[in-house]
Amino acid sequence: MDRLSSLPRTQAGPGGAQFTVRQVRGGGKPYICPGCNQTIPAGTPHIVAWSNESLFGPERGLEERRHWHTSCWERGLW
Ligand SMILES: [Zn+2]
Repeated sequence: MDRLSSLPRTQAGPGGAQFTVRQVRGGGKPYICPGCNQTIPAGTPHIVAWSNESLFGPERGLEERRHWHTSCWERGLW
């Protein structure tokens, strides 16, 4: 089930652009969630999202991926 839940999916995100969204188990360092500006502690499962429509191309979009609390992303706090 973990594998299934980690499959990326595409959905509308900030600015109405299409984003690739992936559920991750959590990294080795904390991140700041852009939805609420609160910390996502290291090791916390969360959402990673990046734009498919970056002005600078998909690779740049991937570089600019953001880490979100799952709840913030699902509530659309952008
Ligand atoms: Zn958040």
